[in-house]
Amino acid sequence: MRRLHVVALGMALALTGCGESAAPVVETGGVALVGGQLIDGTGSAPVADSVVVIRDGRIESAGARDVTAVPTGAEVIDVTGKTIIPGLVNLHVHYRDGAEEITQQFRTQLYYGVTTGRSIGSDSPERVAFLLEAHAGRPGFPRAYTAGMGFSHPNGFNAAGRNAPETEDEARALVRDQVALGAQFIKMWVTEMPEPGLQIMPEIRTAIVDEAIQNGAVPVAHIDGEDEARQLIEAGLRDFLHTTVLTFGPGGGAPVDDPEPTPEFLRMALDQDVVFTPTLSIVQNGWHFAEHPELLDDPALRAAFNPGALARWDDPETRAAVVEAPEFAGRKAAFRQLQDFVKTIHDAGIQVALGNDAGTPNVPFGWGMHHEMEMYVEAGLTPMQAIVAATATGAAQLPPVGEADFGTLEAGKVADLVVLNADPLADIRNTLEIDQVMRLGEWVERAGLLPTP
Ligand SMILES: [Zn+2]
Repeated sequence: MRRLHVVALGMALALTGCGESAAPVVETGGVALVGGQLIDGTGSAPVADSVVVIRDGRIESAGARDVTAVPTGAEVIDVTGKTIIPGLVNLHVHYRDGAEEITQQFRTQLYYGVTTGRSIGSDSPERVAFLLEAHAGRPGFPRAYTAGMGFSHPNGFNAAGRNAPETEDEARALVRDQVALGAQFIKMWVTEMPEPGLQIMPEIRTAIVDEAIQNGAVPVAHIDGEDEARQLIEAGLRDFLHTTVLTFGPGGGAPVDDPEPTPEFLRMALDQDVVFTPTLSIVQNGWHFAEHPELLDDPALRAAFNPGALARWDDPETRAAVVEAPEFAGRKAAFRQLQDFVKTIHDAGIQVALGNDAGTPNVPFGWGMHHEMEMYVEAGLTPMQAIVAATATGAAQLPPVGEADFGTLEAGKVADLVVLNADPLADIRNTLEIDQVMRLGEWVERAGLLPTP
């Protein structure tokens, strides 16, 4: 009964178009953040001395201090020396376990300024219902989207528990089932894992994409090659996870001979307004903490980490086995190819969003978003470009696609934002220097949000 009620609620809100109600704010004067550096998420030049006015859960105005009035009656907060950025948008999340555990994952996200997460393909009907509650704008929760349960080849990657249709009709029926549960996205894994040939067949992929679009859901594909990417684009899909460079599966972990996307593919992706969420963390976090155990001295990161994975990285023998393995240099060289892909498609003008596979054991909720931004800068993007990827570009992919009312700090947008104590344009790692987080126009009480070990 409860599940049906929640699904109905989610659908009713979806019908209003926006899908989210701003939180009630008692004060009528609102809040004015005065004197900080404003990075609004659009990619516009930063405003060194800004005013950001928040009222009734939304940005009322944001701009340079000399042209942006502070309303009478507003609570003025001096943020001189600080930087304001939009709340972060993670397009590649796998929430884990039940309501209690996900509530903790939400809290960890909010602690780290991640105000939106897209759960992409591993959600049971019960979890979909829970995530739709968060989607509706529940105070104290980040905004959530869900792809329900994803699609795989019957013997393919992660097939256990997935939808694994053998015919086009079956694929279409299973897509409709997911949409009926409330899934806003339809996710498929298109990769030759665990062995060649075990990839969802092209005609099944086309049926999934077509049925998703017909039913108002956005199709999303995990890929690792250009051939399947082209076929999916021709079928109407435009939202990709990972890259066209082989990341997993046979040969994954060693550099490939021809990692660069072809000019024809770049043109096609640009023409069709494709977006990539390359998801570097899932690869690099497979060794990063072995190479940099000093990161694990940070109590907040320790709290955010999956306890089992943390215990592994705490073990000196495990770390030594990773960095001393003969294939370690090859893994790093292969990873550099993924970073080069990010730089290449970004330079080509193709949309690059940000997500990290948070919820997989080695990718901590919250902290991992900041680490993914750092890897974009290592790849050759500027800190500003990494921030845009992690905010506005991600928000633009969430339904109704291109109409997000969050993700940037502009008049009229939902007030999800992060106040930083240090300048992220000087060093992208400064996005971790969080002073305060605001969600739906209300300050998040960060103390106590992280799990206690
Ligand atoms: Zn994933």
